[in-house]
Amino acid sequence: MYFQQTIKRRVSCQGIGIHSGRPVQLVIHPAPANSGLNFVRADLPGAPVIPARSSRVVDSSLATTLGSQEAYVSTVEHLLGALAGLGVDNARIEVSGPEVPILDGSAASFVSLLKQAGFKTLRWPRAFFAIHKPIEISHGDKYIGIEPAPEFKVSYAIDFPHPRIGRQKMTLQPRAKTFCREIAPARTFGFLEDVQRLQANGQALGGSLDNAIVLDHHGVLNPEGLRFPDEFVRHKILDLIGDLALLGWPVLGHLRVIKGSHALHQQFMQALLQQQEAWRLFIPETQPSWRAPLQAPAPLPFRVAMA
Ligand SMILES: [Zn+2]
Repeated sequence: MYFQQTIKRRVSCQGIGIHSGRPVQLVIHPAPANSGLNFVRADLPGAPVIPARSSRVVDSSLATTLGSQEAYVSTVEHLLGALAGLGVDNARIEVSGPEVPILDGSAASFVSLLKQAGFKTLRWPRAFFAIHKPIEISHGDKYIGIEPAPEFKVSYAIDFPHPRIGRQKMTLQPRAKTFCREIAPARTFGFLEDVQRLQANGQALGGSLDNAIVLDHHGVLNPEGLRFPDEFVRHKILDLIGDLALLGWPVLGHLRVIKGSHALHQQFMQALLQQQEAWRLFIPETQPSWRAPLQAPAPLPFRVAMA
């Protein structure tokens, strides 16, 4: 896929916010080339726009929250994962509240919604971050690092001292088809005692067995069980793909993560944007059948030197 994409037509859905428990309406609109992914708080005066950029991350403790002093939007990662997994570079995403609806806790419903919208190729090339030097961050047993590779590849490992999770590892090159089948349906998960503690603090008020895998000390409380035996590590990959969409362009490189979190993903994106000697922005050759004249891409919405 060398050209930027948007969606063909507007689509919408309604759900609840996992933290507020309140209903929220989501409307995704097509957007022009080089405009990127932008959230709009349609419920606030002046409908403030919040660009989906790592520089706009204001919190990454429980979910990824983007914003500024005037407006924020939380739990953006599963929708961004679906957009990135399907190669949608440009979209205007209106939300009627401070959270993206959680739906079933995975990206499967967002994938269906985007497929229903259809995809439109735009007459501008897509750029990629081509990594030439490794970048690594580690904190104790947590690690995230990337090394050069011709495609985006991810290896993710988690280790939870729980009989249904334990050690899980997965490596894949997520193309649209594998993303939709292997990653998008994996749901978020939480431990009953953490959910109860969060709810006592007024958080996770919308959290239930309908939108998360909930575990007690022995097993999974959801009566339907798991969608994959390693659903947990698959969900971590979904979170990673969603968070990486905040770079603005896809990454070509092999990313390895051990015991990752939204906060670690965010630290990695900051390190990558700072270590400009480790990568260059690369526009692959255009498709030979493409006859329209191509213009140089517009300046990037963040300050980076083009190598
Ligand atoms: Zn998640």
